[in-house]
Amino acid sequence: MMIKRSEQQQAADSVTQAYEDLETQILQNIIRHVKNYGQLIDSDEWLMQKLAEIGKLNQENIRIIAKAAGLHSKAVEDMCRQVANLVLSRVEPGISELERAGVVEGAVPVEKSKNVQKAVDTVFKQAQDALNKCNTNMLYMAQDAYQQLVQGIVDKAQEISRRQEFLDILGQHATAEAIGSESRGQAIRSVLREFNERGIPAFVDRAGRKWTPEAYVSMTLRSTSVNVATEAMFARMEDRDMHLIQVSSHAGARPKCAKDQGKVFDLRNGSGEVTAGNGRKIRYYPWSSSSYGEPDGLFGINCGHHGIPFLPGISNQRYFPTEDFEENDKLYRKMQAQRSLERDVRKQKRLCSLYDEIGDRESFERAAVTLKDREARLVAYTKKNGLTRRRDREQVYGFDRQVSAEAVAAHKVHKTNRTGTVDESKISQKNQKAAENWAKKHLGVKKTNYAKQSVQVVNQTNRALQRIYRENPVLKGFIDEIEFRDIPSVAQASLKIRKGVITTKLTFSQSKCTDEKSIQRMIDQQVKDGFWTPKKGLYGIVKHEATHLSEYALILKRYNVDRSSGVGDITGAIQAIKNHEISSEIQRKALKNCNYPLDYDTIKTRLCEYAAREGAGEFLAEACSEYRPRKLAKEVQKLFKEEMMK
Ligand SMILES: [Zn+2]
Ligand SMILES: [Zn+2]
Repeated sequence: MMIKRSEQQQAADSVTQAYEDLETQILQNIIRHVKNYGQLIDSDEWLMQKLAEIGKLNQENIRIIAKAAGLHSKAVEDMCRQVANLVLSRVEPGISELERAGVVEGAVPVEKSKNVQKAVDTVFKQAQDALNKCNTNMLYMAQDAYQQLVQGIVDKAQEISRRQEFLDILGQHATAEAIGSESRGQAIRSVLREFNERGIPAFVDRAGRKWTPEAYVSMTLRSTSVNVATEAMFARMEDRDMHLIQVSSHAGARPKCAKDQGKVFDLRNGSGEVTAGNGRKIRYYPWSSSSYGEPDGLFGINCGHHGIPFLPGISNQRYFPTEDFEENDKLYRKMQAQRSLERDVRKQKRLCSLYDEIGDRESFERAAVTLKDREARLVAYTKKNGLTRRRDREQVYGFDRQVSAEAVAAHKVHKTNRTGTVDESKISQKNQKAAENWAKKHLGVKKTNYAKQSVQVVNQTNRALQRIYRENPVLKGFIDEIEFRDIPSVAQASLKIRKGVITTKLTFSQSKCTDEKSIQRMIDQQVKDGFWTPKKGLYGIVKHEATHLSEYALILKRYNVDRSSGVGDITGAIQAIKNHEISSEIQRKALKNCNYPLDYDTIKTRLCEYAAREGAGEFLAEACSEYRPRKLAKEVQKLFKEEMMK
């Protein structure tokens, strides 16, 4: 008819969505009945109790459906009127022009036409009948869905309660009541997704296929819109005493349409011959002989044909729109793809609302994460295809602002914790997980607990280590683990031997290493007290610890120890580490080269108190981490570098 497929779809949209809302309300109502799954009764008793509630559930569902039906009926009536107006606005100008030319008779205005009114009413009543049947079906299907759900929960719960590990968790003396309550809780989580997928069917066809309310109502209303368009035009022709129509034709028509296309038909079911605008004789056929009225027939579902009034002796092209109403298929397909992605979003929102209803936080959060993925897919599709995102079509009954905000929050937490895609363009990563992956990839670290620290600090740790790995090549691949934990000192380096395998770890104080400013403040205080050498922020702290680890690495090298296999002179190496073999050598050499004596006061003045008090290992670490190194530190740094180059 003179209505495009996209227009049919748009006409059907609002009532279709209202039916989906109805389905959601029924699902939510069913879930309210199983919310007490945690009662301390055994599952057989629970099932009996639930089945006894069917009468009450039906009463509630009848109320829900009746309330919706009133609104739907009004909306369908509006839809029929709007479609009739749209089509008549396409046909009427041509007819009026013919009237002025004296070719056709005058008529009452469209809005006063009894024929049009009658035609619209007839089609509306048919649609209403179809939707009433759909309402009745949904009521029965809701009862089925409920029975299936409670039986499914109990079956699943019994399966769970037979598992040994489940009984272990509950303990040896768990009662049947406790087992029932606990196992139903686990069961409901696993069956809810399927319950949401199945939904409440609105129609079962002859092949036994179940139609969702969305699919069934959309199909019904698209066909309603075509019927109203056709019948309204016929009614308006009747007003003018016109009764011949010419059917358009196009390649690739469906079989029933192919037989009818291009022909002239008599709506009064007569037949004979008329003269066309070009003077040629044309046959016309009774309308009843066409395939009109059959679902796959002329002007049926997905038919792209249209008909225009035919006037003997007049060229119709001048008066009626003859553009192809079988519009650009690509656009229609894109539109359908968008609808499908919107459906995915709505279905997932509905699942979120059901998890919210039973109070299952964990499943809700997981569902919310999937929801955000689906929304992102929809957005990407609309962007790529130049379509407008229609948020009104993504809405779901009961998925109110609060639930939606919770979903957004859940997704944010998930994103920070779980997405760890490394941005290779820089060291600083956008979240802790990505920073951890960066450290694994670029520093060869095997384990971190970066999730425990701010993203800023872990990024700075990575940055400092990368720089230190360049300065101390012996460290490459040497640090196995980085940990943030509360320890008495700011940081510490450790080396462990277990069963011949040597592992290393850098530990930072979780509460002291919180941000660059407070780290620097702490350092400055220590320097002021003469306890530490001056250092540059977190880098300075890491440098100190890394120097310890570098010494260990050099000693292992010196004793030919392969740390993964434990092959080599492990005993000698351990002894050398304990004796600070390398740092002691460097300490002696550096003091000698600077002409300083090896005593407490010299080291305290030339470096710091900590280096003087704690032995050669700390002497080396404090000298190597000194910012703007003075004479002694400079000499130590030079000697240590030479040692590393050996
Ligand atoms: Zn057709
Ligand atoms: Zn130290």
